[in-house]
Amino acid sequence: MQKYRVLSFVIIHLLIFLHIAGFGQELIGSLDFQELFHSFLRIGTINAGVIMVFIAFFTTLIFGRFFCGWACHFGAIQELSWVILQKLNITPRTVNSRLVVLFPLFILLHFYIIPNLDYALNHNWKISIITNTPDIWAFLPGFTIGLLTFFVDGFLIVYFLGRKGFCRFLCPWGAFLKLPSALAVYKIRNVGNCSQCGTCTKNCPIGIDVSYEINNFNKVVNTNCTNCMLCTDGCPTSAIKYAFTNPLKEDYQLSDFFIGDKTYNSSVIKQSFINFRVNDIWLGLLSFIIGFAIDGLFGMGHFLSFGIALIISFNLLNVHVNKQVRRIVVSITFILICWAVSVKYSIKEGVNAYQKKNYHSTIKYLQYSTSVYPNNIGKYFIYLADAYFEIGDVENAKKYTEIAFKINPQHQSVKQLQIKISNK
Ligand code: SF4
Ligand code: SF4
Ligand code: SF4
Repeated sequence: MQKYRVLSFVIIHLLIFLHIAGFGQELIGSLDFQELFHSFLRIGTINAGVIMVFIAFFTTLIFGRFFCGWACHFGAIQELSWVILQKLNITPRTVNSRLVVLFPLFILLHFYIIPNLDYALNHNWKISIITNTPDIWAFLPGFTIGLLTFFVDGFLIVYFLGRKGFCRFLCPWGAFLKLPSALAVYKIRNVGNCSQCGTCTKNCPIGIDVSYEINNFNKVVNTNCTNCMLCTDGCPTSAIKYAFTNPLKEDYQLSDFFIGDKTYNSSVIKQSFINFRVNDIWLGLLSFIIGFAIDGLFGMGHFLSFGIALIISFNLLNVHVNKQVRRIVVSITFILICWAVSVKYSIKEGVNAYQKKNYHSTIKYLQYSTSVYPNNIGKYFIYLADAYFEIGDVENAKKYTEIAFKINPQHQSVKQLQIKISNK
């Protein structure tokens, strides 16, 4: 099956290339998963991205998460990272934590479902079909942040948190597909003769204890299963099979989904995993604090911010990390958090003060944030210049207008400000 899976990824990447290169650009806009939330849930628009998510959702209900195992380029990148690490003789241990359930769900609810649902409930929600908007790059970050996101969430997270670290710990789309995955009628099932060799668990690219699950539930119940078939391909006794069961005859037990403590204990696979469950609260708390502190700075998206946050938090709590290194990481993290919080706080207060025409406060906060935040954003310099102008300090108004002009000479607000100052 792996030959076909590779073929599927090749075709998908070819289609991505053709899409970007112009083929279908007029007909098919952004194919980002978040279209479901930003376009459909928010305003009722059905576009190409929304159609893709509908297809992913309903096919998962029947066949399982093929979207993840056979089509998602980001899942493929993490699998490739794992292969590269193996070639380099590095075998990271996969982290066993409850956060693999909680964190992606939190990101899905907090950033995508709740704000868009709130908007929909307070505005006129109306169904419309427009397949070519928004454009392909609408939700993608710039080149540098994009590259960094690939490196952190595609590679570093696998090195530190183990197999498909991003899919397990962060991906909200994975969280979204968990429900249909739990109900899927096709699953990996036990058909007899398991010798408990553990090969299936060792092969599973997303770190499921396949051997435990099929011997205790007769099927893989883990909703992270991406139907890659690596377990069935590698089973020496053909004890497992991807097979259908009538949903009316399926044995669904909620307790089957809360088995974390019992898995990964067999002596044949134990070394491949690290039990981090005793640290879950701290790992979650620290990741939240760091993630929220840096989220949005330098144009970083949620995936990158929380990916960095998880990696830092894991290393802070991991007793296997050298004490000296941990001390350095703690100090750097503390400084980073203080700096990030002070920048975000001063920007927020500065903008609020400007909107309330409280110009002295605007200057106090934005003067600070623009001096310590190396990412020059023209809008804040315009506010600062205007605030100086309003309190009668024309020299500083000119100074900050010039900076705003250098950042974006074409911006309308800069031109308006220049006219306002020259008319003084
Ligand atoms: S969990 Fe997310 S990143 Fe991973 S394969 Fe699925 S959609 Fe892609
Ligand atoms: S690889 Fe096959 S025989 Fe070995 S534990 Fe898995 S299902 Fe059982
Ligand atoms: S359980 Fe089997 S099919 Fe599912 S992700 Fe793991 S190896 Fe792939």
